[in-house]
Amino acid sequence: MVEKTIKILRYFGGALWTVENPRRSQLWRRPVARPLMAHLATTSYCRYGFAYMKTTTFAHHPALALHLRPPCDRTGGCGQMRYGKHLEHAQRGGGGACSKGHTRDELHRIPWGLCCDIVESVERS
Ligand SMILES: [Zn+2]
Repeated sequence: MVEKTIKILRYFGGALWTVENPRRSQLWRRPVARPLMAHLATTSYCRYGFAYMKTTTFAHHPALALHLRPPCDRTGGCGQMRYGKHLEHAQRGGGGACSKGHTRDELHRIPWGLCCDIVESVERS
């Protein structure tokens, strides 16, 4: 899958691109992913209003100045924590202060504000 992704990115040459995966994903440790890893940006979904943290890394084209909100530092500045915990966990089975479970589709959503930051970064690059 990663090799195919890299092949597609090369096919489109100079087009700006970004590839996202959770920060702790095995993808980032695989040698096959090295061509993607020269330029990385990391953020957390809670910084964009989601009740769970889900810290995510974006590999991106070198010419794309990707400006994202900084990852959550778990001090509560994201506004999504109560009693030292995020309100929810990005898990199907729940967890967090409210312990709400999520469907796979819910967990694959990307916050609207994050999408806007990516689009604005592309437009400025
Ligand atoms: Zn947070």
